[in-house]
Amino acid sequence: MPTSVDLVGIGIGPSNLSLAALSTSLGKSRLFFDKKSCFNWHSGMLLPFAQLQVHYLKDCVTLVDPSNELSFLRFLSKNKRLYQFLNRHNPFVSRNEFNQYYQWVISQLDCLHFNAKVRQVSLKKQQFLIETHKDKVHTRNLILAIGQKPYYPKCALPFLSNRVFHANEYLTRIQDQTLTGCKILLVGGGQSGTEIIYHLLNTQVKTIYWASKRLNFHPIDNSCFSNEYYTPSYAHTFYNLSKKTRQSLIDQQLLSSDGISTELADQLYRRIYELKFIEKNETKIFLYPSSNLLSIASSEQSYYRAQLEHTMTGTSIECAVDMIIFATGYRFEYPDFLEPLRPYLNFESDHQLKLNFDYSIDARLDQGCKLFVQNAGRHSHGVADPNLSLTAWRSAMILNSIMSDTIYDPKPDHALFEKTYNSTYVQRNNIDNHSYETAEEYVHTAL
Ligand SMILES: Cc1cc2nc3c(=O)[nH]c(=O)nc-3n(C[C@H](O)[C@H](O)[C@H](O)COP(=O)(O)OP(=O)(O)OC[C@H]3O[C@@H](n4cnc5c(N)ncnc54)[C@H](O)[C@@H]3O)c2cc1C
Repeated sequence: MPTSVDLVGIGIGPSNLSLAALSTSLGKSRLFFDKKSCFNWHSGMLLPFAQLQVHYLKDCVTLVDPSNELSFLRFLSKNKRLYQFLNRHNPFVSRNEFNQYYQWVISQLDCLHFNAKVRQVSLKKQQFLIETHKDKVHTRNLILAIGQKPYYPKCALPFLSNRVFHANEYLTRIQDQTLTGCKILLVGGGQSGTEIIYHLLNTQVKTIYWASKRLNFHPIDNSCFSNEYYTPSYAHTFYNLSKKTRQSLIDQQLLSSDGISTELADQLYRRIYELKFIEKNETKIFLYPSSNLLSIASSEQSYYRAQLEHTMTGTSIECAVDMIIFATGYRFEYPDFLEPLRPYLNFESDHQLKLNFDYSIDARLDQGCKLFVQNAGRHSHGVADPNLSLTAWRSAMILNSIMSDTIYDPKPDHALFEKTYNSTYVQRNNIDNHSYETAEEYVHTAL
């Protein structure tokens, strides 16, 4: 293992995998670390029927470099199933298949190190010093892509156990215990919650209570116009808006990423219809939209009493259950290993790092040191940030910045929405030691 390289990535999920793939031919020395023993994409939720929620061309490389050797289509071709893939007549890809694709990309790269948890990052001699339990590496370019942490309502925290857990552990937890005769409360009405409900309905559980604070079990808004939010041009527009406007847009656009895929929602509805009206099993599932989890109490008989409050009527009910599953999403958390750098970094708020347009953190670091972060910029770059849609483009922008050169075309796509006013960059992009005031100036100069 070298002691100094041109760039280091922490985390090997889709974000840094894309960066590793797109940096292969740049002649830079690279190391990527992940604490896991191997890659398995959100393994606790790798359900057999789960589908990718974006188009398969949103892989590690294609949208910025369609002829790249590490594309999804090349993976299919290499595995001699490209024709059969087309013959399926199905625009959707399973998450299991995309997991296989990611594992294939990993097998093509020699700069990735698993079983390597990063314990500390500090500044030493005008470089970052990255320490795992066995290695110490210096670099001037560090890219964090450590994903997000499971989020729970506060009242859940004292009860977390093998019977009160987050969706991200679902498959692991249910492997270890019997579901026969079990009563389960599931909190959360997004895609993960729906997948778990659909899965549980095919097991021997006795009763499922499904609560969501949303008004309904809303489908994803995957329409053509809504997909404009998932383009580089929209990231440009969004980045230049005021903080207040950005927050309000994220709230309004949430269902374009956090809703349930229509096919699954329809299948689930039909299954519940069959259960209730054809099979006359009226106690298998109870649906509670517009419901907040107020409290949990445990009882001596080793079950939990969960109180739900209806958000419109204020009335509450109590469910006595053996298990509670939280499909309540994920949040970015500032990692402990980065504490030594905290005094040098600027924040937008407690949990939000202040990001430049090129995904570097706005910071007071030594000249030449750049710290980038992926999947932690929804507040600055828009709803697409935690999604796979802009993964390749984001990696490309980071690599242009590291190389101080136009390796990948930074010119945004032609948006369908007209610009209604001139945007001024609130942030200066410092590339080539030159400051650019506007997105247009940056793009123009880079061409
Ligand atoms: C179940 C599920 C399904 C999803 N499906 C889709 C979808 O269909 N379409 C879509 O657009 N988006 C989807 N997403 C959202 C998003 O695309 C994924 O979460 C994606 O995995 C994010 O990639 P990432 O690389 O940023 O983070 P992650 O995939 O979370 O990877 C982060 C990596 O960092 C490692 N790490 C953390 N701390 C350290 C440390 N100290 N040292 C070393 N390594 C560390 C972790 O082990 C992990 O491997 C899904 C999310 C979930 C949870």
